[in-house]
Amino acid sequence: MPTAEDGIGMTLRFWGVRGSLPTPGPSTVRYGGNTLCVELRCGPHLVILDAGSGLRGLGDALTASAIPTDADLLLTHTHFDHICGLPFFAPLSRPNTRLRIHGGHLAPPAGIEQALRLSLQAPLMPDLYGGFRAQMSVRDFTPGDRFPLHPGLQVATTLLRHPGGAVGYRIEWGGASICYVTDNEHPADGLDTDLARFVSGTDVLIYDATYTEAEYRTRIGWGHSTWEVGVSLAAAAKVGQLVLFHHDPGHDDATMDAIGAAAAQRRPGTIVAMEGMRITVGGSP
Ligand SMILES: [Zn+2]
Ligand SMILES: [Zn+2]
Repeated sequence: MPTAEDGIGMTLRFWGVRGSLPTPGPSTVRYGGNTLCVELRCGPHLVILDAGSGLRGLGDALTASAIPTDADLLLTHTHFDHICGLPFFAPLSRPNTRLRIHGGHLAPPAGIEQALRLSLQAPLMPDLYGGFRAQMSVRDFTPGDRFPLHPGLQVATTLLRHPGGAVGYRIEWGGASICYVTDNEHPADGLDTDLARFVSGTDVLIYDATYTEAEYRTRIGWGHSTWEVGVSLAAAAKVGQLVLFHHDPGHDDATMDAIGAAAAQRRPGTIVAMEGMRITVGGSP
């Protein structure tokens, strides 16, 4: 199987792992305070998962390189914690940047472009959307659709349980796969069999583990899941590595350490996403 070292495998890099709201400060300095953004490299191709405040750091890294940015941005949905980095994504100011934005949680005639424009206009923001110099395209799909981003780079999608909707992704490349499932509430009986089928056998499952089971009891209907359900889902679907993600803003580093230890004890190999963390997919981590 190809690995990242040979330049044709898959690698993940986490630029933002915090849910709901950026949470900087000394108590979150190790796991990080930026909201959701994950860089996925599939050989020469760049895929960006969500555009939270972590996107700013990725943009700075991309503009530090002489190589023009060519990327697909897959949005789970348009809640602020998933799009607030977009106006600060430095490559958008460059005319040789190509950015293709994909999303599927909004039913026509509403769409991703309309939602982005809405969030990037006065009085919420200076009217930035029309000022981007990059070559941008925005495309809506229907959850459940499968589509290629490039030859051999396949994306499958599924509707998640979240207020206003959200989309889960499965991305396959070179015989390996990752699943990105965040902003998702599990069903009352715990295991979502459709979702288990969707993530079945994947190498890496990035999962919404905003709450602990104890916290969840007072947050039913808020659209998020728990690390305990993540562990059960990963076991039922025989996934490779489970990565806990979308950390609650109230969870400081010590809390995340405790959650990580408990989760790894229940399912060895489970890890807590941390800003700056890299994972090689399909090879040894
Ligand atoms: Zn969120
Ligand atoms: Zn959300």
